[in-house]
Amino acid sequence: MLKTRIAPTPNGHYHLGNIYNFIYTAWWARQNQAELHLRIDDHDFQRSKDIFIEEVFDALNLLEIKTLGPKNLGDFKKKYSGQLKREHYRKKLDEFQSKFGCDCSRKDIGNLPYQGTCLQKNFSFEKMKTCLRFDCKKFHYPILWRKEDIPSYQWSSLIDDLELGTTHLIRGEDLQESSYIQASLARELGVNFITPDNMFHHSLLVNQEGEKLSKSNKASSALPLLRSPDSRRDVIRHFSKFALGVEIDSLEELFQQEYPLKTDS
Ligand SMILES: [Zn+2]
Repeated sequence: MLKTRIAPTPNGHYHLGNIYNFIYTAWWARQNQAELHLRIDDHDFQRSKDIFIEEVFDALNLLEIKTLGPKNLGDFKKKYSGQLKREHYRKKLDEFQSKFGCDCSRKDIGNLPYQGTCLQKNFSFEKMKTCLRFDCKKFHYPILWRKEDIPSYQWSSLIDDLELGTTHLIRGEDLQESSYIQASLARELGVNFITPDNMFHHSLLVNQEGEKLSKSNKASSALPLLRSPDSRRDVIRHFSKFALGVEIDSLEELFQQEYPLKTDS
C-alpha cells in the first residue's frame, strides 16, 4: 500500500505555501490511490499551540481533503500528539550509536555551520546543558535531541515516518536537506527509508518582498482566504496556475490532471 502524509508543524499560522503543500500531497495521493495520513508534528511543546492545530483541521475541512489519523483537536491530543511519544523517541535514540553530546551554545558556534567541536568529549545528555547530535560531518552534525529535552524535528519526523510506513514524501524544497539527513539516519539505523525516487520537493511560494514564505514570519494566515467559497476558488486557481500554468476552479477537477512534480532522482 502506498502511503504519504501531510505533516504540518503547529508553530505558527498556515500561510499559502503550507496550503499548497497540502494540495500537492492530496493530489499525489489521489492519483496513486495512496493512503493520505495527517500527522501533526507538535514535538516542540514550547512553540506548538492549539490554535494552530485547529487551523490544520479547518484548512483540510474547507478544502475537503480527507485524511486518515486525528479528526479534531481533542482526538489529536488524546491519541496522536507527539508529546505522548516523547519517551518512545528517547528509547529509539538510545538504540542509535552514531551520536555525541554537545554543550556548545549558539554563541559558541557563531554563524558558521557546526564543526563537530564536541565530537571527542564524551558528553552525555544533560537537560538544559547538552544536546545530542548525529555524527555526520556531511550535514554538519544535526541535532537529534535538544537541550530542552525534546526530540529534534529530524529525529521525531524520521521515527514517525518509519512507524507510519510512509512510502512517499511530498515536501517543500526548504525541507530537502531534512529528507536527506533522515535518509542518512535511516541508513545508520539499518532500516529502509524512502529513496530519492519516492521523494518530491516542490518549489516554494515567495511573498512580495521576494522572501520564501516558509522562512517569513510575516506570512499571514491563509485561513480567512479559505473560508469564503469565492476566495477559496481563487486560492485553487492561483495554485493550479502556479503548479500547472492553467487556472482550474476546483480540486476535484485539478486532481484529474497529470501530477506535475518530478521526483528527486
Ligand atoms: Zn559542541
